[in-house]
Amino acid sequence: MKAVVFKGKESIIIDESFEKPNISSDEVLIKVKKVGICGSDVCSYEMGGPYFPGKIIGHEFSGDIVEIGENVKKIRVGMRVTVNPIIPCNECFYCRHNLENMCKIKNHAYGYTEHGAMREFINVKAERVHILPDNVSYEEGASVEPLSVALYAVEQSGFKLGQDTAVIGAGPIGLYIIQVLKVAGANRINVLEPVESKQKVALTLGADKVFLPNQWSKIVRQLDKLGPDHVYDCVGLSETFATALNMIKNGGQITLIGMHTSKFEIDNILMMTTNNISVRGVYSYNQDIFKTAINLFAQKKIKIDPIITNHIKLAQVPEIFEILSHPPHEELKILVDFD
Ligand SMILES: [Zn+2]
Ligand SMILES: [Zn+2]
Repeated sequence: MKAVVFKGKESIIIDESFEKPNISSDEVLIKVKKVGICGSDVCSYEMGGPYFPGKIIGHEFSGDIVEIGENVKKIRVGMRVTVNPIIPCNECFYCRHNLENMCKIKNHAYGYTEHGAMREFINVKAERVHILPDNVSYEEGASVEPLSVALYAVEQSGFKLGQDTAVIGAGPIGLYIIQVLKVAGANRINVLEPVESKQKVALTLGADKVFLPNQWSKIVRQLDKLGPDHVYDCVGLSETFATALNMIKNGGQITLIGMHTSKFEIDNILMMTTNNISVRGVYSYNQDIFKTAINLFAQKKIKIDPIITNHIKLAQVPEIFEILSHPPHEELKILVDFD
């Protein structure tokens, strides 16, 4: 069975030595249909981690159940499914308080510390499986995970109906956040994004106005010179955080979604104090959020077609990482097809 394996910094290979996996009594076997390539996959490729070398990548996926373990209930062969890739311990303080995204054995997940879905078959714990309604496609199924990231970010930011917002970065997560804010009743949704094709997609998906990153002062001017109540930083650089501080309304909240992997140096941190700014980091989601994401797809409230810019085959994955790791590029979400 062919699999896409993370080997370390700038090294992702196709490995043909993997066998079709066996399942344990609490697991199911899934025939994989679609797998999305995530920004965090590209981040690990660039940095040489935090993914574990030697593991198969892929944590955004959908497929069909082809086998179930003897203790598995409510899931049947033939069901179309997606999987919440986080593997919580179910015992620690956080897991007992529905905060599995903060589990003490943090970052234990398929496609990260365990083998992921970029292969023909994957075995997963049945409790992580979510059944897809008939009107939710495999493409949407493979997009439940990134939509969940966006839903959790907006929920945790404390956003309220009618507030003004700004989103920094119109990559896939930024584009889902725009749509979630629209569904949640945002007043103005402003977007900062350097790539023109991504600006256009942002407008298609509900942004009121798009600007180049250095034009942030136009957003402030447009909002009665007060600035947005909420800024969602989907990039994660010193520059984007500084921009968020510059444009946010006094007393507003900055939500950090983009992974700040590089050293953080900013000159205007004093504004955080003098302007009473809150900053909240958010990471992943929980099972409830995953269900909400599936429901939003079933209700056709979230679009994915403008976000999926490319469908590729498994063999093309290593070469596409070369492109994705050299921004700026025009790609948004790339799906690997297994049909
Ligand atoms: Zn992801
Ligand atoms: Zn735990």
